[in-house]
Amino acid sequence: MSQNDQTARRPRGKTKLPADGFSGRSRRARTEPMAVRPLRDGRYVVETDSGTYVVDLQNRTCTCPDYAIRGARCKHLRRVAIEVTEGLVAPPGTTEAVCAVCGERTFVPHAEANAALCRRHRLDPGDLVRDRETEKLLLVVGRPGQRADEAVVESAGKTIAEFASNADYGDHEPVVEAVYLDSLRADTAPDELDRYRFPASRLRRLARNRGAPQYDRFGELVE
Ligand SMILES: [Zn+2]
Ligand SMILES: [Zn+2]
Repeated sequence: MSQNDQTARRPRGKTKLPADGFSGRSRRARTEPMAVRPLRDGRYVVETDSGTYVVDLQNRTCTCPDYAIRGARCKHLRRVAIEVTEGLVAPPGTTEAVCAVCGERTFVPHAEANAALCRRHRLDPGDLVRDRETEKLLLVVGRPGQRADEAVVESAGKTIAEFASNADYGDHEPVVEAVYLDSLRADTAPDELDRYRFPASRLRRLARNRGAPQYDRFGELVE
């Protein structure tokens, strides 16, 4: 059973986690029934039999009395950390979504939830890819963006999804921006190159090209 199956089958109410080999607060963090729900601001609501608390994993705080009195790393903080580590709830700043290519459950930044990609189908700046239609090599220069049926090509007056060459790929997939490898030259800055957008699954990722220029998450060339 994959991590994502567990997420999908997880009941919405309070649950316990296996606690063999744990003691003290670590054990109580697992054996006490709790329901953990992520908030959009990156914090978590933890519902227990004795009260409901808000945990901030990044600042390591909790609103419970145990934390307030002892400043201890309480069982709620521990429980949220365990559930994030085990893939039971979304890590801070992310949300659960379904991959637009394969339908598998995954965690992505909120901004990408509308057109998400799992780890296997995700394309990042710097990835070397081959266009399944033309067999040409390209370099990904942008993070996954709008859905193919929402991303408009102004010059053509239609969306990416409406191009005949994209008919075999999902309208709901995010578009990925890339430049043609044969247009990359030593005397050309990447931002001077024409960028083209494709439905994500039209681009097949090859082994990473170590010699290729690397881009950061803003699409900027990393020296
Ligand atoms: Zn607490
Ligand atoms: Zn996928």
